Amino acid sequence: MDIGIEHTKLITLRGSGLGIIDDGAISFSRGKITYVGKTGGLDTRELDVVMDGGGHVTMPGLVNAHTHTGLTILRGGAQDVPEIEWMNRALGPLAKHLKEGDQVLGSKLGVIEGLRSGITTFGEYAYNVNRLIREVYEPYNVRVAATETINEVVSDKTKMRPDQVYLLDSDRGNRSLDVTNELFDEYRNSDMVDILYGPQALDMVSVETLHSIRDCAIRERAKIHMHVAQGERERLQVRERYGSSTVKALDELDMLDEQLIAVHCHDTTEGERRLMVESGVSMVGCPSSIAMIDGMVPPVGNFLSMGGKVALGTDQAPGPGTHNMFREMRTISLLTKTLYRDPTLLPPWETLRLGCLGGAEVLGMDDRIGTLEEGKAADIITIDLSGPNLTPSVSRPFDSCIPNLVYSATGFEVDNVIINGEFVIRNGDFVNIDEEVVLEKARSRAVDIFSEAEKDWEEAGSLLVDMHRKGFI
Ligand SMILES: [Zn+2]
Repeated sequence: MDIGIEHTKLITLRGSGLGIIDDGAISFSRGKITYVGKTGGLDTRELDVVMDGGGHVTMPGLVNAHTHTGLTILRGGAQDVPEIEWMNRALGPLAKHLKEGDQVLGSKLGVIEGLRSGITTFGEYAYNVNRLIREVYEPYNVRVAATETINEVVSDKTKMRPDQVYLLDSDRGNRSLDVTNELFDEYRNSDMVDILYGPQALDMVSVETLHSIRDCAIRERAKIHMHVAQGERERLQVRERYGSSTVKALDELDMLDEQLIAVHCHDTTEGERRLMVESGVSMVGCPSSIAMIDGMVPPVGNFLSMGGKVALGTDQAPGPGTHNMFREMRTISLLTKTLYRDPTLLPPWETLRLGCLGGAEVLGMDDRIGTLEEGKAADIITIDLSGPNLTPSVSRPFDSCIPNLVYSATGFEVDNVIINGEFVIRNGDFVNIDEEVVLEKARSRAVDIFSEAEKDWEEAGSLLVDMHRKGFI
């Protein structure tokens, strides 16, 4: 099918501004964009379908550069607790009761939520990520940059002091590395699946395995997607293991380069961030997640001001709450303004770029996605401006829909989602996904998981248990 959308406000993200085209039109055929410009220049004679984009913004799909969608089934389960409690006392006792299939169900739920709010590419990070590719991303026709988690920790961290060095088993790491290499072979010719290398964090993988990963990544010309400097536990582990900070140790390991995607980075100094930017390292900020779990602001503003490449991600639902990039764009903007007491920082034109093109650049996919231009993949969303929260959106003397999209949209105004030229959502409805079936399964399965976890959750004794007993939750 050759499809066109006309009379729309295009945000192309081409050039130095946002590349806005009033009364714009776009067409696509066989997965690729074939025309971007004024409606008057669109030749509709060859098109099978022409849609009226009046009252809508049409822009590139959003890129969620870092996420663990499998945990979405535990939404609402772990937040408002001290950072040191989050993993082991709040999330852990619930996650322990996840069974075979829950990761896939959670991922379907998270991806459906993301699609509803305009995400067309997910930077998925998981154990057994191929199962999610096969059972969620491919059948849903959603673009994925998939990372298999490589983690060698064999110690029970719940029983250790944070500064006691974990035991690592390099066989575990090598097996996950083999899995990753097989994924490269399997998806080498895929339009929709990219593979990245995923050492989980510097404290969770041995030096030997890191060197093997680096060699493989050079051979495959692939990115290394890694949590970097994500808090006190990592800082203590890295100090015991390397006698230095995460960034300095990565520098000594010769891993600071264009291949490294550093997620979080909130436990870094300004000098370390400069070293990362100068070495070509890019970063992903997950503002809702880091605010909720660590009470901190990811250093997105600082990284950008030094000229670094930045993407945004939703991380996992328990904690930050949602897989919604409109929320992440708004959150990083407000937090950065507040952190530096400067309302000019991260204006909507900058955050919109981060949410689309920034993600594409960081994941190494900007040759195919991230902007609307002829020859690129047709990953396109339309946003209905007619609702009360986006009214008024005027075009003269300037486009007030630009701030409105970042500060006022909920994400659910997205009414068409096109990925690789195929409609995933058309006029507000999923084309091939039975949303209600997934939501119903997730509701009923979550009731079982949470109730089965009750005893472990209470024994773990996080602050939430206290709040529950006092009648607050
Ligand atoms: Zn993560």
